[in-house]
Amino acid sequence: MKITFYGTRGSIPVPEPDYVEFGGNTACILLTFNTGRIAIIDAGTGIRKLGNDLIEQGHQQFDDIVLGLSHTHWDHIQGFPFFKPAYDSRRHFTISIGGRDHTNASLESIFAAQMEQEYFPIPLHGMGARFDFWQPDPNAVNDLRGIKLKATELNHPGGAFGYRIEEDGKSIVYCTDVEHGPEIDQRVVELAFECDLLIHDAQYTPAELNDKKGWGHSSWEQAAEVADLAKVERLVLFHHDPEHNDAFLKMIEKDCRSVFRNTVSAREGMTIDI
Ligand SMILES: [Zn+2]
Ligand SMILES: [Zn+2]
Repeated sequence: MKITFYGTRGSIPVPEPDYVEFGGNTACILLTFNTGRIAIIDAGTGIRKLGNDLIEQGHQQFDDIVLGLSHTHWDHIQGFPFFKPAYDSRRHFTISIGGRDHTNASLESIFAAQMEQEYFPIPLHGMGARFDFWQPDPNAVNDLRGIKLKATELNHPGGAFGYRIEEDGKSIVYCTDVEHGPEIDQRVVELAFECDLLIHDAQYTPAELNDKKGWGHSSWEQAAEVADLAKVERLVLFHHDPEHNDAFLKMIEKDCRSVFRNTVSAREGMTIDI
């Protein structure tokens, strides 16, 4: 399984010169499975380039490309209107969020709303591709063509889901937009237990976190603590704060490595093979 980071930033894009190493686009990753099939997690502004790359590479998966969402805050859906493959009538997407009991009663209405005329010139169903919307039971382990998918609800304003994805005995866990509270949330530790790669929210420094209670995010120190408690192989710090430039993120990466050695801060364009 291969993971490529197209958007690493949280909250809002930051196209500034001292943000190019870690990247300014909001959350979006591409999963490439051993079968050659792909799936996408989150549709932040990084999905624009992801779509362009798929077209440029002549990617041949036209049926059932899964776009899984952690949740529907802007930084996780705002790139979708600029995702060119969704304008291709030969393509079919399954847009999914891992919880039928989630407050987002209709995922489709949320996607349609951000493309209403007040916000965007082309409506969702004028794009061209075929969309199915799927909100599976978060407590079930879903088997999608040999890929095992498990979701866990995260503590985040409005709700969010973390995902564990397994193929051929390798596992990645995507866990962003999570606030732990005074103690590490054991549901996150369970989801991440002994995974090969943990992608975890690391928006704040421990000091910043003190002033951001209720904002729904973690510190890099908490990400390291989860990695340690869950005995994960490798940690990727993700959802970088828009106020943290490259120099600052390098410092965070170094600090985090002194606590959990096998850590890397997500960089736009970075690919990890597991
Ligand atoms: Zn976010
Ligand atoms: Zn959020």
